[in-house]
Amino acid sequence: MPRGQPFTALCRSSARRVVHGCADLHVHSTFSDGVYTPAEIVSLARRSGLAAVAVTDHDTLDGVAPALAAARGTDLEVIPALEITAEHDSRELHLLGYFVRTDDGPLQAALERLRAHRAGRFWEMVERLRGAGVSFAQEELASHARSGSLGRRHLAALLVQSGRAHNVQEAFARYLSDRGRVAAPKLRLPAGEAIALIVNAGGVAAWAHPAYHGTKERLAELRALGLQAVEVAYPGHRPALERELRRHAAELGLAVTGGSDCHGPGVPRRAIGASGVNAEELERLRSLAGGPPVRRCSLNPEPTTTAQPSPLAPI
Ligand SMILES: [Zn+2]
Ligand SMILES: [Zn+2]
Repeated sequence: MPRGQPFTALCRSSARRVVHGCADLHVHSTFSDGVYTPAEIVSLARRSGLAAVAVTDHDTLDGVAPALAAARGTDLEVIPALEITAEHDSRELHLLGYFVRTDDGPLQAALERLRAHRAGRFWEMVERLRGAGVSFAQEELASHARSGSLGRRHLAALLVQSGRAHNVQEAFARYLSDRGRVAAPKLRLPAGEAIALIVNAGGVAAWAHPAYHGTKERLAELRALGLQAVEVAYPGHRPALERELRRHAAELGLAVTGGSDCHGPGVPRRAIGASGVNAEELERLRSLAGGPPVRRCSLNPEPTTTAQPSPLAPI
């Protein structure tokens, strides 16, 4: 967005006020299960008047470099970030990592392991769909299989394209939900391990879309594992829940974050810039980056797979 336009000026002057929408810190690209390329995300973020955007693909940092390249020479900041599937207390949770070093060895090795599992899970679900009487042409599968971070959204798109479902929501409801017979187990890193990977890569670890699971007790438990922030501004969070999460964050000394969780067009409340943080909140997150290393939690050292129903499963 060019300097001097009203919204940009508003963003810049909002450091001391609570104004949402200046930085959308949760957007998925084609490098995981989003529809927009990193360059399109940059373009849309600039058009929305954002000062910053974080491309937070599932288990991959590969969309960060193209986003940085697309934003070069503009005044939009691209924050290197990702979203890791983890678990705590046998429950799935997603962790956002901001300001991470994209070339960090241990983080990249863990992500490779998670992506390999995602690919295996994708093909297993293709088989299960075939068993349920739904098969796809090889060419259709090949176009999606090139994604570095395969997910159920890719299968949902195929189901919609082939007329088996009217939209992504229906594809999940009929075939892909955690409770459905097609869903295959997911690999989930123990939360302590995922937090340590993010923090030790110079990043800031935040609990994504905790919804009503974000009790003060759970937040305190995760803080003890190294959690530094919690996503409060989120399309699925009602205002009363957001206020409660903000209160917990303040009481526990956690930073707050926010974003649209945009996966593509068609859902206005999840459009790029629909949720986010203000300049002051972004600076607080930035100040936490590069903190002291966190010891890897070894309470549950092996990543687990599970087919347990999860209310937090991404769609
Ligand atoms: Zn997400
Ligand atoms: Zn998520």
